Amino acid sequence: MVGPAEEGGPGFGGGVSPAQEKDPWKHRSKGMLCATCMYYVPKVANPDQGHAALGRCRRHAPTMSGYPVVFPHDWCGDHKLNENVSV
Ligand code: SF4
Repeated sequence: MVGPAEEGGPGFGGGVSPAQEKDPWKHRSKGMLCATCMYYVPKVANPDQGHAALGRCRRHAPTMSGYPVVFPHDWCGDHKLNENVSV
């Protein structure tokens, strides 16, 4: 049996192990970004103040804090593709 240290995994002084290279789920979340989700509503960024791009998730009803704030590169399992958006 080969342990993580022998595999050269992250945190053990090595790079990406061969097992991680073959991982078919490695970039699975790339297609689930908030930026491509129908529940994502982008906010208008103010470049003068150096604001990063932000948006709000409208998947569920707002709480006392309003709709959750998310970055376009966030993702979650509730993602639903917005067919009118491409990134
Ligand atoms: S948090 Fe989930 S449901 Fe909300 S916008 Fe992002 S991917 Fe969509």
